Amino acid sequence: MKHFARVTTLAAALLSASLITGTVHAQLAPSAQPAAAPATAPAEARKANIVIIGTGGTIAGAGASAINTAAYQSAVVPVDKIIASVPEVSKVANVKGEQIFQIGSESFNNERLLKLGKRVSELLKQPDVDGIVITHGTDTIEETAYFLNLTLKSDKPVVVVGSMRPGTALGADGALNLYDAVLVASNPTSRGKGTLVVLNDEIHTGRDVTKSNTFKTETFRSAFGPLGYVVEGRSQYYRLPARPHTVQTEWDIDKIDKLPEVAVVYAYGNVNPASIDAAVKSGAKAIVYAATGNGSVGDYMVEPLKAARAKGVQIVRASRTGSGVVIRNAEQPDDKYDWIVTDDQMPQKARILMALALTKTNDSKALQQVFWKY
Ligand code: ASP
Repeated sequence: MKHFARVTTLAAALLSASLITGTVHAQLAPSAQPAAAPATAPAEARKANIVIIGTGGTIAGAGASAINTAAYQSAVVPVDKIIASVPEVSKVANVKGEQIFQIGSESFNNERLLKLGKRVSELLKQPDVDGIVITHGTDTIEETAYFLNLTLKSDKPVVVVGSMRPGTALGADGALNLYDAVLVASNPTSRGKGTLVVLNDEIHTGRDVTKSNTFKTETFRSAFGPLGYVVEGRSQYYRLPARPHTVQTEWDIDKIDKLPEVAVVYAYGNVNPASIDAAVKSGAKAIVYAATGNGSVGDYMVEPLKAARAKGVQIVRASRTGSGVVIRNAEQPDDKYDWIVTDDQMPQKARILMALALTKTNDSKALQQVFWKY
């Protein structure tokens, strides 16, 4: 990758203009105490160097007409073209595009996740890279962001961004989302906050964010609210992530070459008990059971889950409700069955955490602690 050019910023120009103005004011008002002149000229302010990695999704999508806000082809516009279509981005940072995939995010699998994570990690180690923006489909943005949040070993900002409408649509949201993502990635206050997701004027932590609506631009939510806002070219934080991330975790993307198979089985009235055995036969090392309510398990599902556990498969009770905690030993005697509960993590993200946890241990008590910690 070519090195970034150092560019004098508008901010630097404004700063020097205000210094000149300050001098003139001091001359006009002799009683004012001008600040002591610095011994040397201040270091030239510079724009952050941000790599924008393109993976596809609606932010790279195009529709047949401007009214196609929800029916269009995703993952067709190359990342360099997306960047070129938002010239404002280059005013806030030195950006470089890199196309790693051109896929809908529903096509992410473990191999692609690992490939993306390793490339991000490689770039973060470069001294001339200040932050990363990843353009991504919104369907699984939360899984990728959570995975990176748990495995990257850097304090530098990593921001995952998508859009709900293709660039060809009326009311397209991708341009502003990309601009906001670059702003957030360039902001030094974004350092050390883990992997972030920026859409719809909000900054979310990769741990908590989830997509909650199929078509609305206001679809991303975190149970405890966003970390901050981006408005009028300014990103501002109001909260901090409470759970360990990036440099604070036990997983290093550079050392993970394969993720164990973890299946999610979705519960519903009349759920087929054979789905548990099917997951076991497919090679799952753990089953996240996306149960109803507070992780409730139907009477006819208890035995299949116990049988899977007896075969060495870890059972994780989750909730399909989308928020709230699953309470250990409440709906089911987890201690007795040697099952695990997710705490507040939703099934698709519990799958990520469980796969990572299984790279370190197969001890159910240690695995339970992982859910309470992360
Ligand atoms: N199916 C698309 C994707 O996740 C939807 C989107 O990007 O909004 O790639």
